[in-house]
Amino acid sequence: MQSDSKRLNTTDHSRDSAGLTYVYPVISRRAGGVSIGINLNPNNACNWRCVYCQVPDLKRGSAPRIDLNKLERELRSFLHELVDGDFMQKHVPPEVRKIHDIAISVMVNPPVRKNLNKSSN
Ligand code: SF4
Repeated sequence: MQSDSKRLNTTDHSRDSAGLTYVYPVISRRAGGVSIGINLNPNNACNWRCVYCQVPDLKRGSAPRIDLNKLERELRSFLHELVDGDFMQKHVPPEVRKIHDIAISVMVNPPVRKNLNKSSN
């Protein structure tokens, strides 16, 4: 997990802010807390080109197969770090130091959906 003391803010939605593959924190100004994101498309690959796409450095191609064991380990350890560690003190402004939700980021394109179905079997 990332160890520098960079503060998160409401405009930084970087998916690698925690140095993990699938799990990343976002400060939600509207919710007033930390939203834990789960990115199921870690290689930023997609075969579509939606005009509203906000995926940074979008590449042509398919998402890799989802490693559910790794995802579970990352989520458990990150939740542990948020609840019992010092992540909140180091990276989250005092007024929003609470876990608000866990949000799964699922691209709706066919390659990822197919991959998700395989991984859940
Ligand atoms: S399906 Fe999602 S990732 Fe792919 S281009 Fe559209 S918005 Fe971007």
